[in-house]
Amino acid sequence: MTLNQLAEIIKSRSNIAILPHVNPDGDCIGSSFALQLALQKLQKDSIVIVEEDIPQVYSFLAGKYAKLNEIPSGLVFDTVICLDCGDERRLNDRLYLFESAQTTVNVDHHISNTKFAQFNYVDTYSSATGEIIYDLLSILGVTIDKDIAANLYVAISTDTGGFRYGNTTSRTHHIAAAFLDTGIDIAEINRRVFDTVSMARLKLVAQAINNIEFYEDGKIALIALSYELIQKMGITDEEGDGLSSLPRTIEGVEVGLLLKEKAPGEVKVSFRSNQYVDVSKVAASFGGGGHKRASGCTLNMDMMAAKKQILEAVKLAVIQGVEE
Ligand code: 5GP
Ligand code: MN
Repeated sequence: MTLNQLAEIIKSRSNIAILPHVNPDGDCIGSSFALQLALQKLQKDSIVIVEEDIPQVYSFLAGKYAKLNEIPSGLVFDTVICLDCGDERRLNDRLYLFESAQTTVNVDHHISNTKFAQFNYVDTYSSATGEIIYDLLSILGVTIDKDIAANLYVAISTDTGGFRYGNTTSRTHHIAAAFLDTGIDIAEINRRVFDTVSMARLKLVAQAINNIEFYEDGKIALIALSYELIQKMGITDEEGDGLSSLPRTIEGVEVGLLLKEKAPGEVKVSFRSNQYVDVSKVAASFGGGGHKRASGCTLNMDMMAAKKQILEAVKLAVIQGVEE
């Protein structure tokens, strides 16, 4: 499907639900809110439906949303648009909204996307889903106002690590320039998104640094946050996720891992690599996915077993990567 075709589908529908993936990040929140605000301008009935609360860090962004438990049972949307969501399992309990809709659309930039909808637009060249939404809004003729610009700026800046990662292109910067032209305060947005930490988070970082583990001559660095530690330190999911990029910043590390026991027997793994290991493949081998340099999966087992399996796979990927 082309973006023009997607624009035609949107124009012909009136009742649209936008579904970001579970455990939403800046790209999927920003993209979803931006699209919702645009649909509103086009007089469409639309809403973003999330499973969890919007992370505190993104609470300043504008957009109409509801939590799944606020949606009356039996409500059916004529169209659902999944954003930034690599496979339908990442819709979790909202899968029934997807399955009951007349038309289903999937807009994403993950290389591992399974093209699970009736209409799929997957562009792995885009640094963020936010870039695709920017193009879509141009085709739809929606003017980018400050609220839309702030959402898309957050989408793109978070997925590019503040325009630093290899997925950042000249196009990414051109698009960001259009957001700055609306007059948004990027210093304030960046302060909120990148330079604000809670005390609990800071204490967690201290603890995590003390307990970091190294394997394969320091090419793998791993932080494990047990359920017990998470409970004891009173940290939110969001605060735990923020640590995922830390291990790979250590000199000599190729793969950084964060293992977070969300509940007893449920371990969320974040993979980050620097130069040669394709972590989207490693995550996919555990039923997850993502990008070459950032990916994730969830394992239903205890921390010890999860650590063993993940390390086995990552060690192999590192050894093979070095040989390539
Ligand atoms: P994070 O480690 O920050 O949760 O995720 C890193 C990247 O991998 C993101 O692009 C995210 O969408 C993707 N990702 C994380 N967990 C999963 C998963 O369980 N399945 C898939 N398909 N992608 C994931
Ligand atoms: Mn994304």
